[in-house]
Amino acid sequence: LGTLGIHHAEVLIGVFIGAVTFTGSVVAYLKLAARINSKPLVLPGKNALNVGALVVLLVLTVLFTIEPALWLLVAATAVALALGWHLVASIGGGDMPVVVSMLNSYSGWAAAASGFLLGNDLLIVTGALVGSSGAYLSYIMCKAMNRSFLSVIAGGFGIEAPSGSDVDYGEHQEITAQGAAEALAAARSVVITPGYGMAVAQAQYPVAELASKLRARGVEVRFGIHPVAGRLPGHMNVLLAEAKVPYDVVLEMDEINDDFADTDVVLVIGANDTVNPAGAEDPSSPLAGMPVLTVWEAGQVIVFKRSMASGYAGVQNPLFFRENTAMLFGDAKTRVEDIV
Ligand code: NDP
Repeated sequence: LGTLGIHHAEVLIGVFIGAVTFTGSVVAYLKLAARINSKPLVLPGKNALNVGALVVLLVLTVLFTIEPALWLLVAATAVALALGWHLVASIGGGDMPVVVSMLNSYSGWAAAASGFLLGNDLLIVTGALVGSSGAYLSYIMCKAMNRSFLSVIAGGFGIEAPSGSDVDYGEHQEITAQGAAEALAAARSVVITPGYGMAVAQAQYPVAELASKLRARGVEVRFGIHPVAGRLPGHMNVLLAEAKVPYDVVLEMDEINDDFADTDVVLVIGANDTVNPAGAEDPSSPLAGMPVLTVWEAGQVIVFKRSMASGYAGVQNPLFFRENTAMLFGDAKTRVEDIV
């Protein structure tokens, strides 16, 4: 009976983690695809609701272990589905990458729980690997983004919901590839800050060529890499290494941030959230508290992107409307090639 009881508990635990992961992933998808509002949902007593759901699930698990009735399983599934929905709905744009990686981790734990149930060692080991690597990745990302790991997994516990109001920042300026080339030709020092758009456009090869051409003309060229630029930690470093950019000019955010004030031109290539001044300056922004590359301190900033659309966190970027910023619209690869 003891082994059977443990088996029953495993069924409920597996269903619980799986159901939370399922609805959580659906909400994460809807938020990232902008099908629903990415602002955190704040229900009255949201923490009490989460704790209440956990207590109910615990009670159902105990009852199911003693007497496995179908209605207990159905009830536990329904509560877990609602909990998954609520946990992720309570989290806003800037924290979504961590949530996505946490959900990935949960799916591993759900698989490991099924492994125990089925007595399948392979499932237990692979599930535990997915679960722990996802948890570790979430932890690294939380540190890089100055977020509390526990708050994020507890559905935004203790996180003030930012108002994130839509401010009108005024007009932006545009520049042509010709204008950008002239600005670069006159510059002494240039910093390139790549982001996810460089990966999308596969612009790393022309970017590397541009950098080596400028260096040949005696311009100091360096790269500034934000810890969460792109869609994986180290994403930009891999792309630049692929294009044979020398490692010694590729600097981390902390190494380059003090140098922007002495930089003539910054090229922001397909980056958005990682260069958003709101992270540093606007406490009401969903990005507030996240360290960013302080590119706006440079003499001139040229932003390569296709439109005025927002980045991963879904927030507008006041950098694009600053006086020393000019937008260079179009595919990053084509535009960099034009400059070269
Ligand atoms: P963002 O995702 O904030 O912005 C990328 C920008 O690139 C977009 O605004 C887009 O603008 C532009 N872009 C897309 N395609 C092209 C193209 N072909 N040519 C030119 N521009 C293009 O990028 P960042 O790298 O600045 O920030 C990364 C974000 O991803 C952060 O919010 C981070 O938290 C999150 N994240 C990071 C992970 C990590 O581990 N590194 C994991 C998961 C998420 P437009 O559409 O107008 O062209």
